[in-house]
Amino acid sequence: MSDLRYFPEDYTDARKRFHEAAENLTQADGAFSMESFQVPSRRDQGLFVDYLLMPAKRTPETLLVLVSGVHGMEAFTGSALQQMFLRELLGDVPRDRVGVLIVHCLNPFGFKYLRRSTENNVNLNRNFGPTPESFRIPNPGYQRLADLLTPRAPAPQPVLAYASMLKFVATAMGPRKFSGAELNQSLAQGQFEYPHGLEFGGKTWEPQTAHFIQFLKDAAKPYRNLVMFDLHTGLGDRYQLHLIPVELPESRDPELVGRLFDIESEKHLYAYTTSDAKGFYRTHGDLNSLPPSLVTGEQKTLTLTFEFGTLGNGPLAKLQTLTRILLENQGFHQGYVSEKAKRQAQDEYRELFFPSEAKWRTNAVERTRETLHRVLGRI
Ligand SMILES: [Zn+2]
Repeated sequence: MSDLRYFPEDYTDARKRFHEAAENLTQADGAFSMESFQVPSRRDQGLFVDYLLMPAKRTPETLLVLVSGVHGMEAFTGSALQQMFLRELLGDVPRDRVGVLIVHCLNPFGFKYLRRSTENNVNLNRNFGPTPESFRIPNPGYQRLADLLTPRAPAPQPVLAYASMLKFVATAMGPRKFSGAELNQSLAQGQFEYPHGLEFGGKTWEPQTAHFIQFLKDAAKPYRNLVMFDLHTGLGDRYQLHLIPVELPESRDPELVGRLFDIESEKHLYAYTTSDAKGFYRTHGDLNSLPPSLVTGEQKTLTLTFEFGTLGNGPLAKLQTLTRILLENQGFHQGYVSEKAKRQAQDEYRELFFPSEAKWRTNAVERTRETLHRVLGRI
């Protein structure tokens, strides 16, 4: 059967499938436990983050965590990869020593309503700062561009948005003197000042952030190692799986990286891509920087983003990416000029984070399967 079977129709379908898989496992093996957290919402009482925990049977050595849907829209793929893991790879887990935690769709609003951000316009991957100060980190580059980034008018047809995007880039790189790299960094790193802006990190933790932090802290307590993979789409070369470590050295323990991955000989499966690589960027408040603050000095952590590229990394792809993200944000806050404009913008946005091409989807499953299979053989 084709790997395409793993991809859900929508959030409701994904959650139903996750529950089915989890219930089968729980019935077959009493060691599994499920917990659901309802995300408060002004317009939908059916939004949940689901946790499936399978503790190590004897000596808790390593907890492996797989997270999907930090960016809701990207959960089509993340949820499919978790399905594949539950159905095909659980048998590879050395259950005596290794526990598994699957966190299904941390941003269900985004998944259901096809956004990366939450109902509060928060990019959860900028919302995990460990202290109140984390929410006051300035982004001077963004401040200098904010007036251009949040237009107070309905979102236009995508074709017109591309024209205004060229004007925006010309203004930023001309009179406002941004280099390409500075522009990329300022737009993507996160900002905590403009609640309707791009990559808004919030003023405090979102409800599911607070719940996740406590849950992970408790779950990781008995283990010596915490290994977490966070599943994303959108950034990087098409068909490539980028494994992206965070800058914080405590988040990428060298012994764990060296043991679990053979970066040189596995280039056909993934690219180990640091945040200073061309087209990538450093961020504040990302999920993967969090674990070291949750564990004790004796515990080791390795956190990686699994990022599946969609449009690519060239200048045209960058421009398309930014245009689609800006347009979707404008549409969410200001509406669209017409139903047609809305449909086109949403189609392009969906294609950016969840390509319809069968080859793209099966490639994502195949690379993840083989990579995790190897990791489980060494864990
Ligand atoms: Zn993402």
